[in-house]
Amino acid sequence: MGWLDVTDSASSVSHSPLGAELPGPEPLDGIWDVVVVGAGPAGSSAARAAASQGRRVLLLDKAEHPRYKTCGGGIIGPSRDSLPPGFELPLQDRVHAVTFAHDGRFTRTRRSKRMLFGLVNRDEFDHRLVQAAKQAGAVVVTGVTVSGVEQQGGNNRTAVVTATDGRTFEARAVVGADGSAGRVGRHVGVTFDQIDLGLEAEIPVPPEVSAHWAGRIHLDWGPLPGSYGWVFPKTESGSLTVGVISARGDGERTKQYLADYIRRLGLSGFTPSVESGHLTRCRAEDSPLSRGRVLVAGDAAGLLEPWTREGISYALRSGLLAGEWAVKVAEANGATDVRRQALNYAFAIKAGLGVEMRAGKQMLAAFERRPHLFHAAVCLVDPAWRAFARTTQGHTTFAQVLRQYGAARKLSSLASR
Ligand SMILES: Cc1cc2nc3c(=O)[nH]c(=O)nc-3n(C[C@H](O)[C@H](O)[C@H](O)COP(=O)(O)OP(=O)(O)OC[C@H]3O[C@@H](n4cnc5c(N)ncnc54)[C@H](O)[C@@H]3O)c2cc1C
Repeated sequence: MGWLDVTDSASSVSHSPLGAELPGPEPLDGIWDVVVVGAGPAGSSAARAAASQGRRVLLLDKAEHPRYKTCGGGIIGPSRDSLPPGFELPLQDRVHAVTFAHDGRFTRTRRSKRMLFGLVNRDEFDHRLVQAAKQAGAVVVTGVTVSGVEQQGGNNRTAVVTATDGRTFEARAVVGADGSAGRVGRHVGVTFDQIDLGLEAEIPVPPEVSAHWAGRIHLDWGPLPGSYGWVFPKTESGSLTVGVISARGDGERTKQYLADYIRRLGLSGFTPSVESGHLTRCRAEDSPLSRGRVLVAGDAAGLLEPWTREGISYALRSGLLAGEWAVKVAEANGATDVRRQALNYAFAIKAGLGVEMRAGKQMLAAFERRPHLFHAAVCLVDPAWRAFARTTQGHTTFAQVLRQYGAARKLSSLASR
């Protein structure tokens, strides 16, 4: 049974490995204050936020945790700042240097005395976040695949989440955090204006290769518009996460880019332990963030940094907000109040992450046309490198950089012409 209270069973008693009946976990029936679908960073944060206000919260995931997730595991400053109090980051490495390349050429390494960001394996990281939600009082049930959600009751007083095994869970508020291909996003009507394909290989390497990469990442501005590649060393476990991302629609060339990148790095002699791909989706600016009693967060809402496709901090931050506002939706008095609270959630997202996404889209539009200008800036212009470093550390954001520095604004508008 592992560390979860409840696995894929609606029973209110659990059994020890020897078959003796133990006092059971909380029964799953009755009306929940908040049901959260998906136990990634967004869902665990939402469940923790709602449960820590003393509400009855259920967190569902189709996977048994810890589970693999295609992701570089880069934890930038805003991610670190949104973690539960006392959370111990399971760091695989601390990044102090970046080697930049432009399609394999014009390589330059930049170093920082202060740590730029951390690297984790998502299975461990997500597992700990689920534990934190559980510690806050959320009931966690894994092995449950949600197939749909519906508003119901007189005046839509509750929403009902249905699982593929036919079980239903009724709640006063639902948070959809089921990732970029989520069911709940479809119910809400989330729309996207940017879809990218990310491909990754986890490559176990011998200790001397691991030592060569320790504390340093590699970023390669790629041959396809808006594409880039990365090497993220997972030094504690002796492997490298190597990946590329590019606009969806040319899967063969994206695959070729990853193969070329791995070969150029001299890593093609090592056999990957995992090779996987995943689509990332950024929301259109007018995309809804709620419907009735259902809010969406993280990838399910299309909340992702458009240029870097960094999404963990977006998931953690929007998850916390969704959990807080879901409590208000659950307590709302009538349909008008539900709508007001859901709109408040949307305002909170748009005023923070929405502003950052707009800046990211501007950066991406410029980068797609003139990647060499970005490369030259981060490699040769100290303020540009410092702005990059300070963004990863969480001291500034792309939106602030564009606002504060005329040169960055000019570069981005020049490049996007
Ligand atoms: C190749 C690649 C590399 C990336 N690298 C980085 C990086 O280095 N740093 C960074 O910040 N971001 C990175 N990202 C983005 C980041 O992985 C996501 O933005 C982040 O995982 C979003 O978190 P989430 O909680 O919204 O969704 P997820 O982490 O996708 O979690 C969704 C959860 O919902 C569950 N679920 C799905 N469907 C159902 C269902 N029907 N019923 C029940 N449960 C369901 C899943 O099992 C999963 O646990 C990367 C993305 C890709 C594709």
